[in-house]
Amino acid sequence: MRLAIVSDIHGNIEALERVLSDLDARAPDGIFCLGDFVGYGAAPNECIDRLRPRIEGAVAGNHDLAACGRIRLGYFNPDAAAAARWTTQTLTPENTAYLEGLPFSLSWRGACVVHASPAEPSEWHYVFSPNDAHHEMQHCHEPVCFIGHSHVPTAFEVDGDFVQERRGPLIKTRPGLRYLVNVGSVGQPRDGDPRAAYLWWDTDANTIEHVRLEYDIAAAMARIRSAGLPPFLAERLRVGQ
Ligand code: ZN
Repeated sequence: MRLAIVSDIHGNIEALERVLSDLDARAPDGIFCLGDFVGYGAAPNECIDRLRPRIEGAVAGNHDLAACGRIRLGYFNPDAAAAARWTTQTLTPENTAYLEGLPFSLSWRGACVVHASPAEPSEWHYVFSPNDAHHEMQHCHEPVCFIGHSHVPTAFEVDGDFVQERRGPLIKTRPGLRYLVNVGSVGQPRDGDPRAAYLWWDTDANTIEHVRLEYDIAAAMARIRSAGLPPFLAERLRVGQ
């Protein structure tokens, strides 16, 4: 199977359209979304309307649940909270209901899929270190777990108690080992590379590939500014932070 996993679109329709056109060309057997459809960006309805018919399923991100009032904004920074309030007012009732109904985690095509982390999906933990990955994978029954949330694409290879981080665009997976993979962010990358990110998983070739795509960042920035959202949310797209 040739599969694609997208995450953290964050209302960035310019980045999403670029990813979808790449997926049109590659024609995967299935696409899954790890959540954070909305928040930060200025096109939340457009992103849900475009992506929802293309995916086999999705899990909820913290920004999705903040936008439909299911989690409180207390731990959001001021810019994120302002964007969440704007998103709440902008979402259509149908799209609000869709986000409200998303589960925290699922098993999809043999992989565990969750927005933040498998141990406590509703606590929004970040997975940054091999230690974090070792702990999290003890709560995952599948050989592969796909996560988003940090917006930093990477992979952890788990060999019993030995865990190592594996970077690089293309990773060959080894039989018998387990993998915790952060797929990166479509709409707001934070690894210093402003290009849109998604993950390509080829279960026959045993590879995972972090795909990066240039897109019209200036248009996404202009849309954020003209919506009256905090200017920092536009600026960060240019630098990928
Ligand atoms: Zn996010």
